[in-house]
Amino acid sequence: MFISANNGSLMNGLIEPSLKPQRLSKRKETPSASTSARQMPGASWRSRFHLTPHRLRRTVQIAFLCISLWIGLRFVLFYFSHMDSWHSAVSRPPGVEAFLPISALVSARYWLHTGIIHPVHPAGLLIFGAVLAISFLFKKSFCSWVCPFGFVSEKLADAGRKFIGRNFLLPKFMDWPMRAIKYLLLGFFVWMIFFRMDLAALRDFLNGPFNETADIRLFQFFLAPGHTTIVVLTVLVGLSHLVRHFWCRYLCPYGALTALFGFASPTRIQRNIPSCIECGKCARACPAALPVNRLLTVHSDECSLCLECMQSCPVTNTLGVENKFPRRRIKPLVIALAIVGIFLLVVVVGRLTGHWQSSICGAN
Ligand code: SF4
Ligand code: SF4
Repeated sequence: MFISANNGSLMNGLIEPSLKPQRLSKRKETPSASTSARQMPGASWRSRFHLTPHRLRRTVQIAFLCISLWIGLRFVLFYFSHMDSWHSAVSRPPGVEAFLPISALVSARYWLHTGIIHPVHPAGLLIFGAVLAISFLFKKSFCSWVCPFGFVSEKLADAGRKFIGRNFLLPKFMDWPMRAIKYLLLGFFVWMIFFRMDLAALRDFLNGPFNETADIRLFQFFLAPGHTTIVVLTVLVGLSHLVRHFWCRYLCPYGALTALFGFASPTRIQRNIPSCIECGKCARACPAALPVNRLLTVHSDECSLCLECMQSCPVTNTLGVENKFPRRRIKPLVIALAIVGIFLLVVVVGRLTGHWQSSICGAN
């Protein structure tokens, strides 16, 4: 049923016929940074702390994971202290609204309709805007650089590979229809919110008790999970060990949204064909199983700009992130700083304009 992820070859883009790579196997590989570091005395510590694309992404991922855990801890303290008294000793962290994507989508529709940011869960809307902006600028990078579920999913797949020896890809005839599931789920929510709800319905939802206490309900849902929830979570965790990014690739509607915005992004992974030695390391390293070694430009909804292909490429400057407008290469550090900067900007703007704290009061 499965094919090895290391040999996956889903065609998600095309090489321009005139630019088809020629066999250049006799070309010498450029020594990698670590190899040269071994030869130069005193350079080993430099290579150890050298910010490779992988390390850079991991640093940003861990930073966002720590922020998410901090927000989660604050929310748990807020919840339990609120159970005892009306006046909680810990205030509700607005960042928790990042985990309320449906509320954010309704709020976005309300904002588009009225030009007003609804006062319930305004931080959720701003974070949602930041995610869309990042996706447009840097493809699905939110999934591979920021999202804590993406990080956990990566780690589960790593554990699976260590344990079983490899990860798997579903065969093409299953992979394509399965990838459509996340788009169908997204389509359902967009249809319901953008085409079935009028202004009154939007107001009713946003001001209603379900939305106002959505974070509390979500927490209670996972605090005392039912049998079905436990079974579904166990199956998902199990499959994530076998198939890399099972949840993200097939089921996450948020991932579908970032993929659509990413598809329209002017930023792409670009391969310099003359210097490529066609070793295939980039394709083997790609978690989305894209045939990077056969493409001029990676133009796929599944590319999360994780830069693992760049990391694995032995020839310097053969793979790079290129922007179309203006046409130039972007350094990984610029991507990292831009992602962090956009989130910081959103928090600062939200706080300065009074659109960060939700308007719900203790009685809610
Ligand atoms: S390895 Fe390269 S092509 Fe594959 S998802 Fe990451 S950035 Fe995109
Ligand atoms: S890793 Fe990919 S891009 Fe780099 S030399 Fe090998 S085939 Fe070419």
